[in-house]
Amino acid sequence: MLKYLIILLDDNAVSYCHYAPKAELGVSITPDILKKAIFWAMKENLSVQFVHSKVKMSAEIATLIGSIDHTDIALSDADIVVANDWAEATTLKYSKGRSYVVRTAFENLLDESDTLKSLLVRADRVNIVVTDVENFSDYMIGKYQEFLEGLIPTIIDEYKRDHQVQFNLLTDRLMLNEMNNCNAGYESITLAPDGKFYICPAFYLDGEQSVGDIDNGLNIKNPQLYKLDHAPICRICDAFQCKRCNWLNKRLCREVNTPSHQQCVLAHVERNASKKLLKEFRKIDAFFLPECNIPEVEFLDPFDKVTKQNP
Ligand code: SF4
Ligand code: SF4
Repeated sequence: MLKYLIILLDDNAVSYCHYAPKAELGVSITPDILKKAIFWAMKENLSVQFVHSKVKMSAEIATLIGSIDHTDIALSDADIVVANDWAEATTLKYSKGRSYVVRTAFENLLDESDTLKSLLVRADRVNIVVTDVENFSDYMIGKYQEFLEGLIPTIIDEYKRDHQVQFNLLTDRLMLNEMNNCNAGYESITLAPDGKFYICPAFYLDGEQSVGDIDNGLNIKNPQLYKLDHAPICRICDAFQCKRCNWLNKRLCREVNTPSHQQCVLAHVERNASKKLLKEFRKIDAFFLPECNIPEVEFLDPFDKVTKQNP
């Protein structure tokens, strides 16, 4: 069921996810399109997320934005603040209750363990988004494990001093007992400044076909493909924190419901490190999250489980 409408205020709206933002100057949303979008969101009972750019918005647009309850995603002063590199992440002002997204290439992530630890101390929620998932190779598995496990003492120390920091790569899996994926195309849809709907901002910026427009409504071909129950590999998986990014699926495997090896391995290394974090929590409190159970599995890519079952 559709729950969220993501509105890109500008072609240069910040990227909060795996895709690269548009570099060259683009168009901004018009007041007419924005008015229709807000009306549509109200009619469909959707939560609205506005994605801002550095481009200064007009007073009319600002008034329209203020006319509806919403979440702001921007480079500063927002509910979700995005840093496009580690230098930006260290200079941000960290406020209570906000989420901070750090977009990073995988190799840079591994070099920034100390910086990340300092963010986990300062922020209530940190989301790391890897911008080059396609470059991840199996030979990096050990390094990634070591990197994630190296963050566990910091998270434990923060909990001990009553700062329950949330960190998408390690704590999310502990809080979930079912999939909590991005679900673009199923639970969320994006409206671009051209007045058309896209599965997510990445599909828009990649020049993919629109899936309807604000005047005529949504028109997604084969909408079932965006649902978990039509993703045969993901539906047997318990890396519940995985984004299950259907844009990456399409880019790397040509199908929106078929995950790439890289995405699955990354998510399973995180899942397994979360299991170690859980064990550390239970050393302090034996009843910590009693329902949480992360079983041992013999694979890092559920595709291997599928092929074993159907040789
Ligand atoms: S780890 Fe792979 S199989 Fe599991 S949800 Fe993520 S993409 Fe799907
Ligand atoms: S499908 Fe979701 S996870 Fe993937 S790029 Fe789009 S918003 Fe991000």
